[in-house]
Amino acid sequence: MSEPVNFLSELTGSFAEPAAENPTVAMIEAAYRNHGLNWRYINCEVPPEKLADAVRGARAMNWAGFNCSLPHKVQVIQHLDGLGESASIIGAVNCAVRRDGQYIGENTDGKGFLQSLREQVAPAHKRLVLLGAGGAARAIGVETALAGLQHLTLVNRNEDRGRQLATLLSEKTPVEVEFVVWDGEYKIPSGTDIVVNATSIGLFPDVEALVPLRVESLDASMVVADIIPNPPRTRLIQEAAQRGCRVIDGLGMLVNQGVISIKYWTGIDVDPDVMRARLEEIFGV
Ligand code: NDP
Repeated sequence: MSEPVNFLSELTGSFAEPAAENPTVAMIEAAYRNHGLNWRYINCEVPPEKLADAVRGARAMNWAGFNCSLPHKVQVIQHLDGLGESASIIGAVNCAVRRDGQYIGENTDGKGFLQSLREQVAPAHKRLVLLGAGGAARAIGVETALAGLQHLTLVNRNEDRGRQLATLLSEKTPVEVEFVVWDGEYKIPSGTDIVVNATSIGLFPDVEALVPLRVESLDASMVVADIIPNPPRTRLIQEAAQRGCRVIDGLGMLVNQGVISIKYWTGIDVDPDVMRARLEEIFGV
């Protein structure tokens, strides 16, 4: 007898604008296929004024959940039914999860970063320099601080934005925070364990751009992470590797936030290597 066939897939997807350059669909569908899941991930271009309708559409079609990318990570909150702990501290959601018929907002960006960091170094009791204070930096700052970091030096060009994140971290997490206005080449303080570029410097097509820091201040004892996924080997990663630092590229965060999103939606731990391999194929690494 032939197997019963189910032509109704479980649905997930992404709402963003622009959406065409976001490779997440290829990475997530590679994981679904690899695990034989009858699940789909639909990449949708959604302008801000249509976000409420998009979430209503997901509810109507009983989507298991969806990612939100720029520019929706904050605005989507008003259309959801609740927030997970770190998403409520960060104030941004990149992953909505259907639980008992309600959409709960989670933030898997910071958790994904933390997972790739932990593959190199445990953040507890460490000193970290965080370059940038945008959405990704907020997520990384909150998650690494909640993971027991001792000291975080936040370096940002825009003083107001930097101070806002520094205040949030010192009010909502136990970490010691210091804020530095980024003006010219930044020298990494000696004794730093981890350096993270969470700015958009180095993103395609501006691939030759190097974050303004004194590269001689990178020491071989440091772990240096860049969250730019394309290209994965940014100038910062190249300079740090040349100086003997352990390096973490932006594909790690992208893959791991996807692994965590899929776990939230399906309950299944998928294989990150399959997802990374698909991205490397796309980026020609
Ligand atoms: P935001 O626009 O929210 O923040 C951008 C940050 O970069 C700000 O701190 C900004 O500083 C800083 N910046 C930009 N240009 C410069 C410059 N020339 N000199 C100094 N600082 C600069 O963006 P996001 O935080 O959402 O994203 C940042 C990057 O992270 C993007 O490139 C994105 O692709 C990547 N990303 C990667 C992910 C992954 O999974 N690998 C996940 C999420 C994001 P200022 O405040 O002074 O303007």
